[in-house]
Amino acid sequence: MMKPNYVRVIIDRAIQRELDYSVPDTLADRVGIGSRVRVPFRDKSALATVLATLEQSDAKGIRPIEALVGEAPAISESLLELAKWMGAYYCCPLETVMRSLLPQVIRRAEVGWKKQLFVQPLTKIDTDTIDNLRKRAPRQAELLEAIAKLDKPMPAAQLLRKTSLDNQTLRALAKRELIELREEAVERDPHADEQFIATTNLELNAEQALALTKITDALAAPEIAKPILLHGVTGSGKTEIYLQSIRTALERGKTAIVLVPEISLTPQTVERFKSRFDEMHDVVAVLHSHLSEGERHDEWHKIHSGRARIVIGARSAVFAPLKDLGLIIVDEEHETTYKQEEAPRYHARDVAVVRAKIEKCAVVLGSATPSLESYHNATTGKYELLSLTQRVDDQQMPLMRIVDLRQERRKEKIAPILSEKLSQAIAARLEKREQTILFLNRRGFSTSLLCSNCGEARNCPNCSVALTFHRHMARLSCHLCGHTAAVPKKCPTCAKDALIYAGFGTEKVESTVSHLFPKANVRRMDADSMTRKEAYRETLRNFRTGKIDILVGTQMIAKGLHFPNVTLVGIINADLALHLPDFRAGERTFQLLTQVAGRAGRGETAGEVFVQTYTPFSPSIQFARHHDFAGYFQQELEFRERCDFPPFKHAILITVRSEHEGRAKLSAETLVRRLKESLGAEFILGDATPAPLEKLQGQFRFHILLRGEAIMRLSRLVRETLDKLPLPEDVVATVDVDPYQLL
Ligand SMILES: [Zn+2]
Ligand SMILES: [Zn+2]
Repeated sequence: MMKPNYVRVIIDRAIQRELDYSVPDTLADRVGIGSRVRVPFRDKSALATVLATLEQSDAKGIRPIEALVGEAPAISESLLELAKWMGAYYCCPLETVMRSLLPQVIRRAEVGWKKQLFVQPLTKIDTDTIDNLRKRAPRQAELLEAIAKLDKPMPAAQLLRKTSLDNQTLRALAKRELIELREEAVERDPHADEQFIATTNLELNAEQALALTKITDALAAPEIAKPILLHGVTGSGKTEIYLQSIRTALERGKTAIVLVPEISLTPQTVERFKSRFDEMHDVVAVLHSHLSEGERHDEWHKIHSGRARIVIGARSAVFAPLKDLGLIIVDEEHETTYKQEEAPRYHARDVAVVRAKIEKCAVVLGSATPSLESYHNATTGKYELLSLTQRVDDQQMPLMRIVDLRQERRKEKIAPILSEKLSQAIAARLEKREQTILFLNRRGFSTSLLCSNCGEARNCPNCSVALTFHRHMARLSCHLCGHTAAVPKKCPTCAKDALIYAGFGTEKVESTVSHLFPKANVRRMDADSMTRKEAYRETLRNFRTGKIDILVGTQMIAKGLHFPNVTLVGIINADLALHLPDFRAGERTFQLLTQVAGRAGRGETAGEVFVQTYTPFSPSIQFARHHDFAGYFQQELEFRERCDFPPFKHAILITVRSEHEGRAKLSAETLVRRLKESLGAEFILGDATPAPLEKLQGQFRFHILLRGEAIMRLSRLVRETLDKLPLPEDVVATVDVDPYQLL
């Protein structure tokens, strides 16, 4: 490699410009594309990433880089190429993309390795020394005796714990020069305390075996293989296929990334991977949002150095700096949490497909309910479709029963939280000592506090939503901005004592169920009850061992959990997602019902699912009921085509927001006029309209929706138009390409 004279860098702070610096001789050997450097910038210094190495530069007043941060280049050339693609596709500056690509802790290089004190005998310690010491200092002798038995250095803390002796005793031994204390860098291992029992390959059924063969073929010839969509019903054994194809990739000297939604990244999931590859120490790295900065640093280096060969993680693990990448798996590819809701607003599944193309590796997207986009890609031949239609061990698909809440209301005047049919089904399970899951995608006790006299609801002062009443904290709370308020005694608007609670969330379901079944052990699992990290594991453990009869929860319990003794699932209100102003509302409802229903009957007894709804004949509910993915897909696809929505057209959503309603509106309208001038007729441009969620965190919001097929071109035109339009200082415009959040 030639030594570079100059480098082109981007500075971490968003300035949207690439700058040239010269490379001092002392650094020339070590600086390359992807290196992290410290450079003088204006009158300070700043951190930057090297984008290119140059022989010459025409820039004026070039200054030298000050230092190299870290050793080897932090990102590879192919990751840099991926970053550039993301910037162009997602209409977003490169330095913003870099922020996602390189974790904060690596970019800043402030957190290092953890240092730990190790104990080692200095010379061979004989019994005489110990006996001599015993007379004067018995505790030191006891400790020395333990140290004499060590065959390798041991962490001091561990030794002292084991012997129940103190640090002072240890220091005394060191002072006598009998032992040596040495600081060494050690890795923080978030899974150090866990024991994994090695597992071996399970036998595959015919469908699974065929799928594995196809994936193995793709591994062998990735440059001609298409992305694979693995469509397998819940319980069809997709994970086993993942595990065996990773094994193949490893045997061929390749590495693998497995993306799972954050919510499914449970200890149970990690364990399945760690235990399968247990014989290869340290081969699995796990990346998720609960890691400490230090743990993140260590896991990243474990991957970057090549020691870890399998990475499991949520969204951002798609950027894991593995070399010789052979396989990327995106499990639950339809999950909307793969979409990042802040800049860069990327979708990890789509980034995975592009990374696979750049790195020439195989990519497998798995789901029981594929997204419309992916399934469309499969039916049109862009992707290869592999189907698993059978549950492993011939388990039956659960029986879905629809409960019409309109009729329940006719009977009872108000619709009960639990219909009679669902209550009876729960009672029957309690009798048989089987378990029940009740699902409601809404937290809190009552979802609003209304005045029955004047009709006013208690709304959040910062957002246009009603405040939710939480009984455990006896306060009203906003789920969007976190604002809380005391519960007023009288209506603050008309001063009448006429306040009523309306709507209900998981907290109320829990209390109703406990009341109806006083002998049952009921637990709730949602963001409110699971604030402690340990609470989650504990609840799952208790549910697994049968200490909990009924588990009430939000989507936290909808995904991936596998409990053989759950034979009943109740969906308290299937309509919640259906009525959102979002073209994906039907798709989400279908997916959610299918996924939640999949939690029932994972053991020997067939499962039963009760779906409570006010719209029993809506297509999403009917197709889910009959486990009819193809029928649902056809119907939904026709609707999308009629309305020019994805997968037929790409969408871009621009949100213009400000504390001043008038200024936000005016800016949005001006932007629409400018876009009209620069966009061709091939693109559909909507008017500036108030967002469905008009006010959020004190900001008024306006939406502009654009659609078109040539997304790269549309993205570029939007960026150019925005760059030329000076917005008032208190107005912000954000661009979301392929948006999932339309509120
Ligand atoms: Zn009132
Ligand atoms: Zn709010």
